[in-house]
Amino acid sequence: MISSQIELHKLYGGVVPEIASRKHIEKINQVIEQALADAGVTLEDLDAVGVTYGPGLVGALLVGVAEAKAISYAKKLPLVGVHHIEGHVSANYIEHPDLEPPFLCLIVSGGHTHLVIVKDYGEFEILGRTRDDAAGEAFDKVARAIGLGYPGGPKIDKLSDEGNPEAIEFPKGKIEGAPYDFSFSGVKSAVLNYLNQAKMRGQEVNAADLAASFQKAVIEVLVEHTMQAAKDYQMEKVAVAGGVASNRHLRQAMKDACERNGCLFYHPSPIFCTDNAAMIGVAAYYEYQKGTRHGWDLNAIPNLKLGER
Ligand code: ATP
Ligand code: FE
Repeated sequence: MISSQIELHKLYGGVVPEIASRKHIEKINQVIEQALADAGVTLEDLDAVGVTYGPGLVGALLVGVAEAKAISYAKKLPLVGVHHIEGHVSANYIEHPDLEPPFLCLIVSGGHTHLVIVKDYGEFEILGRTRDDAAGEAFDKVARAIGLGYPGGPKIDKLSDEGNPEAIEFPKGKIEGAPYDFSFSGVKSAVLNYLNQAKMRGQEVNAADLAASFQKAVIEVLVEHTMQAAKDYQMEKVAVAGGVASNRHLRQAMKDACERNGCLFYHPSPIFCTDNAAMIGVAAYYEYQKGTRHGWDLNAIPNLKLGER
């Protein structure tokens, strides 16, 4: 059961925080009731309440945290706070019961681009991260510049099918001396410059070629850094997580690279890549097993760091 606000935020070209929290309040009870009904259970059947408490928009997070506290208080259930990105990583466990830590995971979402070793459930060693834009953010900004609208990732993914990825050479976001870090502001600026120059010269832009070439530049770096880390740390299992992990071209490139390097490749189904409660439930399950419990003082933490409690 996923209630989406995307249609509403499309009108503004991105998420409007105040609207997001208001809609959360309007929908949360409905969504919980529907999810319980679909699962054929009631609140009485639950063992614990899991909730995202960060990072993210504070207003939206607070709605969830307040609701979770209310249910856990009323039903005398343990409260387990979860990091949103731990949820994204845990989406991989839903359909891959054979996947157990340790493994390497590339997290590519709207706000994060992290390359991590999942050492144990909920335990991460961060090898690299983006120095500027997140991968999903770059997709969204480029899509907006091409005029594809919001959210841009899926639209670039689709439009790229008709384009030539070799048409335009864009810079790759590599950083001297930091083999696992990323930078996407360079490629984003290069796309914007390309569009501006074409406009000045009165030239037509082939949007499909542009989308495919941008996407290729981003994917190449993501795959190269991930495979370098897999080799350096002798990781046999490689997973992807986050909204951008539903990108078909990224999945194919990662699958091919993993096959070449003798690694097993894991990815969640697209519905579990973008934000959903199932992944938070799975993360909360493992945290619960480890003994993680939160008190009534649990608060929303907009900038919660991965691995922090
Ligand atoms: P975070 O998880 O970092 O807090 P978020 O929750 O906003 O950020 P997600 O829901 O994980 O982000 O993912 C949304 C992002 O994924 C958007 O930037 C969107 O453009 C991108 N995305 C979704 N599908 C695709 C796709 N097929 N190709 C590329 N990007 C995609
Ligand atoms: Fe997310």
